[in-house]
Amino acid sequence: MSESPLPFLPFALPEIGEDEIHEVVDTLRSGWVTTGPKAKRFEQEFAAFLGEPEIECIAVNSATAGLHLALEAMGIGPGDEVITTTHTFTATAEVVRYLGADVVLVDIDPATLNIDPRLVEAAITPRTRCIIPVHYAGLAVDMIAILDIARKHGLRVLEDAAHALPTTLEKELIGTMGSDATVFSFYANKTMTTGEGGMLVTRNAELAKRAKVMRLHGMNRDAFDRFQSVVPSWRYEIVAPGFKYNLTDLAASLGLHQLKKLSSFQRRREWIAAAYNQSFADLPLILPPQAPEGDVHAWHLYVLRLTDAVQIDRDAFIEAMFAAGIGCSVHYIPLHLQPYWRDRYGLTPEQFPHSQEAYERSFSIPLYTAMSDADVQRVIAAVRRIALA
Ligand SMILES: *Cc1c(COP(=O)(O)O)cnc(C)c1O
Repeated sequence: MSESPLPFLPFALPEIGEDEIHEVVDTLRSGWVTTGPKAKRFEQEFAAFLGEPEIECIAVNSATAGLHLALEAMGIGPGDEVITTTHTFTATAEVVRYLGADVVLVDIDPATLNIDPRLVEAAITPRTRCIIPVHYAGLAVDMIAILDIARKHGLRVLEDAAHALPTTLEKELIGTMGSDATVFSFYANKTMTTGEGGMLVTRNAELAKRAKVMRLHGMNRDAFDRFQSVVPSWRYEIVAPGFKYNLTDLAASLGLHQLKKLSSFQRRREWIAAAYNQSFADLPLILPPQAPEGDVHAWHLYVLRLTDAVQIDRDAFIEAMFAAGIGCSVHYIPLHLQPYWRDRYGLTPEQFPHSQEAYERSFSIPLYTAMSDADVQRVIAAVRRIALA
């Protein structure tokens, strides 16, 4: 129960403005509510945002769908292994199992909380086909190292960039680094939202072609192009048992305006993160790792870790925050602790000491654009009071 006289401050909230609302109403009045002109425009504007009008952007109804489509298009299947981090949401790994392939989880670098490239290399076997790095909290993985390892061993790279819009590494936006594909999420609590949605980005034309066909029932209309200049709308071929992963124009209506606001959203997130960094510098807490000088951290999450100098444990800290009327969360309960992953692969905490330690000590505090300056000050005051108690 909250003991605060102030209204409860949720852990996350989207910022939806009048522009988004008008666009959705316009879509409703247009008569075209499923995938159509606005989803198409959203894809084009997303490519423009990435600074590469020619890059393939494939709008999907979730990042999970995008990850699944990318792996399917890579031909990942039974007998294959895909390496990813244990310190992530289950969506990153479950898509590998959809295809009957196996997940090989590795530990994180405790400095960045990102997958440790050295452990990736050590986990490679003759069955390894792909690496899925996750840009945790919005801080870029060392993609130079990952891409290097992939080249050396002939592996594919699929970036889970659900947290990483807009993140940069060596001044390049994630999504343009040279992996096989990158997937962004527009889930309600991400740095921009379409309610549910995602974007699969790739420079690989073959991969894009397969993903587009599989996004909508395995339906291919290209086959007729050779015979007819205008393909009648009723004519199509089913070339595979595909999925139903298309993004609606209703969702794209939100995305068009959220994308326009992304830079101002980013500035606000950076301002809040800087206020937190400055206000917590003297506390017995480990602050989140910073982006390298000159690079952008998307600040999807602001994750604090307790040191031994704090009197209470993580669960009690979160409880005290809730008592102060402030929502917090934990990112994540690592996959090696989740019954399905633990039991399927016989995983133990000892195999992932850094993720385990980060999990036991960490919690995420509110960081979103809809927070007022007073909300930020309230979070700061609560964290300081509880950490110093
Ligand atoms: C949110 C999230 C996803 C899944 O995104 P959806 O759009 O909800 O499918 C995948 N990976 C990570 C790391 C996430 O945080």
